[in-house]
Amino acid sequence: MAGIQLFKAKYEVEECLAEIRECLEVGWTGLGFKTVQFEDAWKNYTGLPFAHYTNSSTIGLYLAVDILKEQYNWNDDDEIITTPITFISTNHAIEKSHMKAIFADVDDSLCLDPKSVKERITDRTRAVMYVGMGGNMGNYYDIVKICEENGLKLILDAAHMAGTRHGGVIPGKEAEVVVYSFQAVKNLPTADSGMICFKRGELDEIVRKKTWLGINKDTYQRTTNSGNYKWRYDVEYVGEKGHGNSIMAAIGLVQLKYLDRDNAYRRQLAGWYREGLKSCGDKVKMVRIEAGCESSCHLFQICVDKRDELMMALNAEEIYPGVHYANNINYRMYDYAKGTCPYADYVSEHTISLPMNMYVTYEDVQRICDIIKKFVSGEKGTNGAYI
Ligand SMILES: *Cc1c(COP(=O)(O)O)cnc(C)c1O
Repeated sequence: MAGIQLFKAKYEVEECLAEIRECLEVGWTGLGFKTVQFEDAWKNYTGLPFAHYTNSSTIGLYLAVDILKEQYNWNDDDEIITTPITFISTNHAIEKSHMKAIFADVDDSLCLDPKSVKERITDRTRAVMYVGMGGNMGNYYDIVKICEENGLKLILDAAHMAGTRHGGVIPGKEAEVVVYSFQAVKNLPTADSGMICFKRGELDEIVRKKTWLGINKDTYQRTTNSGNYKWRYDVEYVGEKGHGNSIMAAIGLVQLKYLDRDNAYRRQLAGWYREGLKSCGDKVKMVRIEAGCESSCHLFQICVDKRDELMMALNAEEIYPGVHYANNINYRMYDYAKGTCPYADYVSEHTISLPMNMYVTYEDVQRICDIIKKFVSGEKGTNGAYI
């Protein structure tokens, strides 16, 4: 791929291959073995009490809502307050369980605005779905407090947050459930997989059944345990085929070792962008990072006028940023909420995510910042380009 991409995963190739080789030699690529090792490694890394490895974060989010709904006897059309600025999985998880996504507005962290969340609470509200945008935490702890005060459950979509810390600690213990993504472009890339981390052990047990068609026994155990009746198992739910496998977990185990190193470099890149764009003042609004948050810096987002033109100007230089995200309310499925989240409308039209990956260099950042600076000051070269 030529040019500078928004995302480009960096793998520790030899180590990943060695770990995968072990699966192939042992003859076990499925559920169990490396998936269990990765779950243990993740619990160890995050300090969260439970972790179940899934084949995507989307299925994790779906099951998070499904299980909480069942557990707490929520009804169809009960409400979950959520953000319009996210990947669509977040909100589909609510609809999938026949609940109602109620959109609150975001603030300058691009995470949910606590004030707007409060305004949306009704007697049908059961939970808040919070997304740590770009790995940042926004006013997460205010949302935790609002949930406590109003008897709401907190679901944390931590797809961007692998490695994010606050005061040196990985956040998430406050939430009823935390769901991570290890999809191909996330900070801990595998190819596709995720982790669902319930606060309560009973719910962790349920999700293990639900990701395996509702079956209540682990395959690997059945093939390794001696004794009778190992073919006998019960089926308790109409579950999903949603568990992770040992090949993905093998990659995850290796990449986890490098997550903090990689995130430190991402923070370095973010620092260079901030420094490089400082002189633009209000013309380039940089996303707010709250005090005490050591962000995973999955994204580095700015808001500018004429966003689409800036995108073209960068593309002309073979620089390929992205947009996170188009306001979900603009999608047909969710347009019942049109006009209710003005800041999300603004973000949707003005935000741009600058290249953030292990291959971006200091010189790349300088070049990108130069183009942006010239663009916002309206300066063009003789060829009409912003260089
Ligand atoms: C990537 C992403 C997801 C979905 O993750 P998958 O592992 O691809 O299913 C969910 N929420 C957010 C905010 C994401 O960025």
